[in-house]
Amino acid sequence: MRLDGAVHPPGAPGDGGRAATPITIPAALLPGDGRFGCGPAKVRPEAVAELAAAGTRLLGTSHRQAPVRDQVARLRRGIAALLDVPDGYEVVLGNGGAAAFWEVAVFCLVRQRAQAAAFGEFGARFAQSVGAAPFLDPPRVREADPGAAATLVAEAGVDTYATPQNETSTGVAVPVRRVPGADAGALMLHDATSAAGALPVDLRETDVYYFAPQKAFGADGGLWIAVLSPAARERAARIRETGRYVPAFLDLGTALENSRREQTYNTPALATVLLAAAQTDWLRARGGLPWAARRCAESAGLLYRWAERSPVASPFVTDPALRSPVVVAIDFAPEVDAAALAAHLRANGVVDTEPYRGLGRNQLRVATFPAVEPADVEALTHCLDYLIARM
Ligand SMILES: *Cc1c(COP(=O)(O)O)cnc(C)c1O
Repeated sequence: MRLDGAVHPPGAPGDGGRAATPITIPAALLPGDGRFGCGPAKVRPEAVAELAAAGTRLLGTSHRQAPVRDQVARLRRGIAALLDVPDGYEVVLGNGGAAAFWEVAVFCLVRQRAQAAAFGEFGARFAQSVGAAPFLDPPRVREADPGAAATLVAEAGVDTYATPQNETSTGVAVPVRRVPGADAGALMLHDATSAAGALPVDLRETDVYYFAPQKAFGADGGLWIAVLSPAARERAARIRETGRYVPAFLDLGTALENSRREQTYNTPALATVLLAAAQTDWLRARGGLPWAARRCAESAGLLYRWAERSPVASPFVTDPALRSPVVVAIDFAPEVDAAALAAHLRANGVVDTEPYRGLGRNQLRVATFPAVEPADVEALTHCLDYLIARM
């Protein structure tokens, strides 16, 4: 069998995995569900079953009519309850995923100058989007090396501060906090794409908490969801009045008007809406955000402790306070080829443990979102032990 799973381009470090003969892991050691990807991430079979059952009533029907609008309402209400949305904040939806929301923020939320934290791929990409906008001042970018975190600092003239809550490319998580001493009226934006629904948050500490549902919300992608404070909605309305050109697809005011009618500006992926709503209800029924946060911390802790004990592995993020409870990056000593390890796992049905492409390290990256069973994470550590002893 050929092992085509490794994401490294040919010749990249650790490319040796391709040529290896797969090692068969005994069935008793394998996790019940082998999906450990950081997005798309594991979708619970129960949610897929609910989608299948609803299929003929919902899929292929108008998103302007009650059956689909009821699902949008279920999702918006569920998110508001799960995240304990403060009075006056609103849950808004649109199409295009988190990357589309970056452009929404550029057009509709940044007035003149933003400060952005870039300590990995996703934070850096938002900073690039701001920098590319000809109608804005160049952003102030606060950088840190992968594996560390950059902090935002108050700066006169900055009207928008932005950071990821969880940098999915490196597995670094930071608390959601406003920037002390920022100008009055400055907005705080958090990219919570891989954090929302799994990490604790007090939404009063931010104005815009946005994410896409293919990570902790265990759904498919293609949608963005943003919780907006009154100040964020006010900012978007004022910018609209200045006459700035805003593409209709990226207009936050239009998204807000549609969301209030339980709709989206254009056609959403109906399956994504239903899967995200099902996951939100599941999280709430199990104990909400505190339950999800405990479960993710338990799963991630199994892996971090395994790496700390291992003579050939170590957590990539050296500061324990910054280690993500949902994205665990593990470095390996040179004698263990991590790409080969990921390829062997893949050949045994344990998938998407490859590291973030751009990082180029001898590393594995494992998602421990709420849908992932802690027992399956423990099984993964046994699979790693089994493979390392035989490679
Ligand atoms: C996955 C991810 C994105 C991109 O999400 P898309 O829906 O694919 O655009 C952005 N930010 C973070 C932090 C992510 O983890």
